[in-house]
Amino acid sequence: MYKGQYLNLHTHCPSGEPGVLEIENLRFGQSPAGKTKYFSAGLHPWYLQNIDFQQAGTWLHEMAASPDCIAVGEAGLDKVTDTLWETQLAAFEHCIRVAAGSGKPLVIHCVKAYSEVLHMLKNAGQIPASVFHGYDKHPQTARMLLDAGCFLSFGAAIFRPGSHAAESLRQTPADRFFLETDDKDLDIKAVYERAAQIRGLMIEEIQDQVW
Ligand SMILES: [Zn+2]
Repeated sequence: MYKGQYLNLHTHCPSGEPGVLEIENLRFGQSPAGKTKYFSAGLHPWYLQNIDFQQAGTWLHEMAASPDCIAVGEAGLDKVTDTLWETQLAAFEHCIRVAAGSGKPLVIHCVKAYSEVLHMLKNAGQIPASVFHGYDKHPQTARMLLDAGCFLSFGAAIFRPGSHAAESLRQTPADRFFLETDDKDLDIKAVYERAAQIRGLMIEEIQDQVW
């Protein structure tokens, strides 16, 4: 249905540009900017300090029940943020449960906690897909995540020539990656262009692979 279009898997500032299907990321307390119908909703590890967990949990259940909610997230674990580790674990566990319960994919924020995240996913119920967003690490880590059945989403980091991210994208199988702009001032079309360059393909072929 969306063949020949651009998909922006993860953005905090949708453009509303025609021909681009954008998934706007929302965290507890945020409302949609009104530029795209589709969203993902999650409990981001950076923003857990002053929230009412009961309310946030209920909010997530309600958001995930919407047909316009494409994924749960971003959610995950971050070893360089100030949020208490126990709080991060509880929030991520809740997001995993909501994703499994609603049958929606999970968009993962992960900083220096790959084995912990994989361990939690292994013990989770049925989640249709787990996507590590903003992937920026070595191809070896990418291989580990792909071997575990996960997907990778690439954005700004692939523009750095010779980056680990660019090399990881080059090595990722055609049916296992997404592209995104995240919170960057970037045009998703430029990300596709760069991905096409890295993978030695036409933009149309990248569109087909992502879909
Ligand atoms: Zn993000």
